[in-house]
Amino acid sequence: MPAYEELESEVIESGICTCCGACIASCPLNHLQWINGIPKRPEKKDACKDCETCYHACYKTGFNESKIEEMIFGRQRREEEAIGIYRNIFEAKVNDKKILSKSQDGGIVTAILRYVLNADIIDGAILAESYKWKPEPTVATTFDGFVKASGTKYGTTPNLMKIRTAVIDQTLDRVCIVGTPCHIRSTRHLQYINFELYPAITLLVGLFCRENFEYEKMRKRIEEDSVDITEITKISVSKNFFNAYTKENKLSFPITETSGWVPKHCLVCEDYTSELADISVGCEGSGEGWSTVIIRTETGEKIFSGLERSGVITTKTLGDLDHIKEVSIRKRRKAEHSRETFKLKED
Ligand SMILES: Cc1cc2nc3c(=O)[nH]c(=O)nc-3n(C[C@H](O)[C@H](O)[C@H](O)COP(=O)(O)OP(=O)(O)OC[C@H]3O[C@@H](n4cnc5c(N)ncnc54)[C@H](O)[C@@H]3O)c2cc1C
Repeated sequence: MPAYEELESEVIESGICTCCGACIASCPLNHLQWINGIPKRPEKKDACKDCETCYHACYKTGFNESKIEEMIFGRQRREEEAIGIYRNIFEAKVNDKKILSKSQDGGIVTAILRYVLNADIIDGAILAESYKWKPEPTVATTFDGFVKASGTKYGTTPNLMKIRTAVIDQTLDRVCIVGTPCHIRSTRHLQYINFELYPAITLLVGLFCRENFEYEKMRKRIEEDSVDITEITKISVSKNFFNAYTKENKLSFPITETSGWVPKHCLVCEDYTSELADISVGCEGSGEGWSTVIIRTETGEKIFSGLERSGVITTKTLGDLDHIKEVSIRKRRKAEHSRETFKLKED
């Protein structure tokens, strides 16, 4: 019977844990905690003896992509659907200066959050706040909370462990999850295995993600250039460069310098555009300061149409879809190759 010990050896110690936090959320007795950057059971409990919950909650122990696509979209993707199944795709930007002053690109994620809160579709959202540019999971229930958590933090974050906090401790009935493709895949896996708290998950907003970085390595490299991480106002990756901005300066170096910061689990990740989200948002394919928005599900379509009708965003036809497809295909190929190299079975 696979239990925490198997989760530890097969996933955590093998380096393929994405640090999403689902195992922590799933533990019915709160025996798992986030300790030193990994999910840990501080002490073995009798109740764990006959319990397989955390093992099965982990999508790395048995992810069924085709069945999950059928569950969400009613069919599996066709071979030519390189960025997953979708209904529509746009370039978009919010018109609100408060959102744009802190958002990463076109501020569309934060605009969606404000719209669904005001339209009484959600009670709150699980997001990543910044602590010295290290992402930390948080539950936000106000527009100010959404703005505070906006902007991209490069680093893994166990956001899904907050499902229990949001639904049980804060008694939120309708929760939005914003996350990278691993958060989204993991949440869909929880839906597929009928996780008891899943019914409260109302909306999944996925981010594009080529790869993540190990926070400490990123921080050290930035500080090597005598830049104090607390002075940074934005971090971005663009046109093969890593950029960190302060109020006065910009630190920039080739993205190849970051290759040693990429965690192993990113090397085996095949999803660039959060293919299983309701709505996916990135910047690739759009002009500077705009977001690329992929509408995938009926829920996503209704929400985005409502947001458009509310007049707070501007949309236009997407500039470059081919490049997004190309990156997605490359990411899937690299994941297959890495899995062979690491001798891992399919997710
Ligand atoms: C690690 C990472 C890598 C990315 N790589 C790419 C890429 O290769 N190509 C591309 O086009 N786009 C990439 N993105 C997405 C891009 O950086 C923006 O997040 C996206 O365009 C949305 O911009 P926005 O202005 O609409 O979002 P905002 O309105 O600024 O909102 C961003 C939201 O993302 C959440 N968030 C921030 N950091 C994290 C994190 N580490 N984990 C989970 N949630 C987080 C915040 O809580 C916030 O709600 C990446 C994002 C991340 C987090």
